[in-house]
Formats: sequence, C-alpha cells, structure tokens
Amino acid sequence: MAHTAANATAETQATPLLDRLFEAGLLIRTGVDGLYGRSGTFERIVEGVDRLVTRIGRDDGAEAIRFPPGMSQSAFVRSGYLKSFPHLAGTVHSFCGCDADHAALLRCLETGEDWTANQAATEIVLTPAACYPLYPVAAERGRLPADGLLFDLQSYCFRHEPSLEPTRMQMFRMREYVRMGTPEQVIAFRQTWLERGTAMMRDFDLPLAVDPANDPFFGRAGRMLANNQRVQGLKFELNVPINSVEKPTACLSFNYHQDHFGTTWGIEQADGSVAHTACVGFGLERITLALLHRHGLDPAAWPGVVREPLEL
Ligand code: AMP
Ligand code: ZN
Repeated sequence: MAHTAANATAETQATPLLDRLFEAGLLIRTGVDGLYGRSGTFERIVEGVDRLVTRIGRDDGAEAIRFPPGMSQSAFVRSGYLKSFPHLAGTVHSFCGCDADHAALLRCLETGEDWTANQAATEIVLTPAACYPLYPVAAERGRLPADGLLFDLQSYCFRHEPSLEPTRMQMFRMREYVRMGTPEQVIAFRQTWLERGTAMMRDFDLPLAVDPANDPFFGRAGRMLANNQRVQGLKFELNVPINSVEKPTACLSFNYHQDHFGTTWGIEQADGSVAHTACVGFGLERITLALLHRHGLDPAAWPGVVREPLEL
C-alpha cells in the first residue's frame, strides 16, 4: 500500500504539491501566498485529526478553551512576541477617522494611492500561537493547584511568512495542550506527548523523525537565542518529508518554556515559586498535508488503518 502511494508521488512530482492541491480542489486560491480556502474534504481530514488528538488525551482531564484568532494587543506586547518575532506578527488596524479622513480615504482608493496610511492600530492582534492568549488568563486565577493545570486549545494562528510551500501558510490552525506546574510535571507532560504524537503519526504510516529545533528568532541577537534553545533541548519537532526529502516539515512541536511565561505573567506554583510551562502543538493543516502527500489526494482511497482513526 505504502509502495503505491510512494510511486504515485514520484510520478506526479513534476507538478508542485500546491498546484496539485488547487487542481484537486482541496485548497482554494485567494490570490495571496499562504492564504487559502479549504474544501469540505480537506476539512473532514482536519476535523478527524483534531478528534483523534482529543481521544488520545481524553483521560488527562484537560480544560478545553477556544479563543478567537485575535488576542489582546497589550497581552501580546507583554508576552514578548515583538522582541523575538517582529517579522511574523500581524496586527489588526481599522479606520478610526472623521468625515474628512473618509474623504481622503476615498480619494486614495480612486487614485490608487496607499489608503492604509490613516488606519490605526486596534486593541487586537492576530494570535501567533494557540497558547499565547492563555497565560494571562491562567495567571488571573491565582496560584496553581498542587498538581498544576492542563489546557486543551485550538486556534487559527497568523504568521507573516508568505510562501509557495503549501505547508507554510499565513493562517493555519494549531491544536495544543498546555501544561503548567513544577519543572518535573511539565517535563513529564512533554515526554508523554512526544511519545503519543510520534505513535499517532507512525500509525498513519508517515515517514518521520523527531529532531531538536529552534524558533525563528529575529536578527543577530536571535541567532544566539535560537542556539541556546537547541543546546538546552527546549524544543523538539516531529518532521515529515512533504515538500522535499532534504527539508522535512515540522508537523508537531514539543516546547518546554522553562519559567519564561511563568515569570512574564506571574504564574505561581502551589508553593509560590514561579511556574514552569510546556506545550505540544499539532499543526492541523500540516498533518493533513502530510497525509495527502503520503497516501494520495483522494482520502476515500487511503488505507483503512489511516481512514479508521480519522473516521473518514
Ligand atoms: P511552532 O509554534 O512554530 O512550534 O508551531 C506549532 C506547529 O504549528 C508546528 O509544529 C507546525 O505544525 C504548525 N505551523 C507552524 N507554522 C506554520 C505555518 N506557517 N503553516 C502551517 N502550519 C504551521
Ligand atoms: Zn504553545
């Protein structure tokens, strides 16, 4: 079965995956690289993966929260995102002017001049990772209980990284579990999900490797941060070849933040010391694309062992 899929992939490689996804109607063009519509079939796979992740974590008693894909600008600033990833951030701007400003706006539209000059930043920014809106909410609740906290999140996220690789979208969904507590609790959580996530992807018959990784910190100072993150083993990614064998794609991430968010937000352990946090992130579109690339663009023809857990 895997053989057939591999051959089919080799035969059609002349056409880039993104174009094949458009032709099959699985993704829908919007005119912007990395911003796509999804077909019903694509969404059924995404939903199947989402449900499967829920089933795998069912007995852990995570508290589910769904935030909208925008978060508070002040929380975003306090989180430090602009220090580390200014190049990826997306801010929501709106027209906040008077009649005269509106007239000026209309003139710009008519003459084809830049109409955005009068747009003002709102109190909302686009969520860069599903867990970012959570930390201030958790901090508000006061000290953690002795066994810490566990959350289940899912959100559309925005990152300004336009690309022709279908796996690098500007708007995509991230499913996450987030653990807060003692270093031992959060490290154990990350290890459990590293094993569960790997087993889930292996059961899909996907070729994969789990590797140390780093976030794309901005600039020269960022290189040092990225290096530290790698050396300290704070981030691991589960990579699957999708666009190319040489540069496999991170489909799942396993992050140990140490006390970064605990300190930033004043989240305290039961004994009053700073809480540690960790999160596991599932890239729902990326997992879907890994499956489509591996098993073919028609999910009805996928092997039963893949369709069944996804209830396809
Ligand atoms: P990160 O916070 O970068 O570790 O992202 C968490 C997960 O989201 C990754 O493991 C990917 O599966 C997914 N992801 C990150 N960036 C993108 C993107 N530009 N397009 C689609 N999925 C993404
Ligand atoms: Zn996270």
